[in-house]
Amino acid sequence: MSNFRDLCDELRCWDTDRLRDQREGELREARCHEARALAMLRVLDERDALAKDPAARDGVTETNAKHQRDIARKLEQLSHLGNAALNGDLSPEQLASAAELADEHSDAEITATAKRTSPLDLQKMARAERAKPRREDSVARRVRRSLRKWQSADGFLCGRFELPMEHGGAIVEGFFDLVAERMTPATGEAWEPLERRQADVLLALCEMEAGAENSESEATVGARVDIHVDITLNGEATMCGVPLPDEWVHAARANARVHLRVVDDNGNVIAEDRARTFVSHKRRRAIVRRDGRCRWPGCNRRLRLQVHHLHPSSWGGADDTSNLAAVCAYHHGLLVPHGDHVLEGNPNQPDGLVLRLVTAEERRQRRLEGMTVAV
Ligand SMILES: [Zn+2]
Repeated sequence: MSNFRDLCDELRCWDTDRLRDQREGELREARCHEARALAMLRVLDERDALAKDPAARDGVTETNAKHQRDIARKLEQLSHLGNAALNGDLSPEQLASAAELADEHSDAEITATAKRTSPLDLQKMARAERAKPRREDSVARRVRRSLRKWQSADGFLCGRFELPMEHGGAIVEGFFDLVAERMTPATGEAWEPLERRQADVLLALCEMEAGAENSESEATVGARVDIHVDITLNGEATMCGVPLPDEWVHAARANARVHLRVVDDNGNVIAEDRARTFVSHKRRRAIVRRDGRCRWPGCNRRLRLQVHHLHPSSWGGADDTSNLAAVCAYHHGLLVPHGDHVLEGNPNQPDGLVLRLVTAEERRQRRLEGMTVAV
């Protein structure tokens, strides 16, 4: 049969059921062929033996050609998804989204889900996964923090700083607003301009810090901060519009009073939870008194210490004193769940804690454990 119109005419003599069945078979067959072609693409790609201009040769865009190579690589790693593709169980659209969503651990689950989920819903899932802020992005944002100071020719100290909102920016902003607001003028006098009052806040802060560090004072607990976390309707946590990874939210809970709000797409508050404190001030004080200094090996900071969960709450760790240790703000940022280090052992012993690096595999495993406990 060489003519499309003739073929249509011939098919018009078939009954509907036969047409439906035959068409389903053809589609499945086409998917199987497609999967076999992907396997061939995989091996050619591996041999670096693809045609000079593979996209043009296949009649697809460059983006699509790269996408196909990625899918082929994924299918080799993921046996469930690979077999489903070879059986013709998934349409090309379902396959593309499933390959993006699945990894070696979620292979079986995602493959089963993909078979019974519409391509549109799968695309949505893949998009949500792409938009989800990752811990690595948040770590990279923290690395970008900076404060530069220099002297001008006429003898002024000048400066410029950048802090991510979720890593101190919101705290600094709140502090400056609060203190500058309190600098009320004497009765009958005008307010000083805001920038002058803010300069005074900075100076007062430096004098206070210098005085405190010089004295042989006792360890102190850092101020508890109020954190407003907005949860959007698709479940994403944000702070001042900045998307937050789950790890960040969990790390903040020991030292903050967390205000959770649910907001719609326009930022309107739909529901508000009461402010939650996970570790009481009394308990935080007790931890700081017990530890006396930052528990990071070699660090002797004693002032404004924060409380750290040795086993993060997102990994199923409790808010008990046996799971809490005092650390300075700097070292807190280097510890799990946000950072790459873990302090472990018995915090009730003066030398009971050991510091080590956490592996990616362990991070994944622990997070799964935490989820099991939380359910
Ligand atoms: Zn420290």
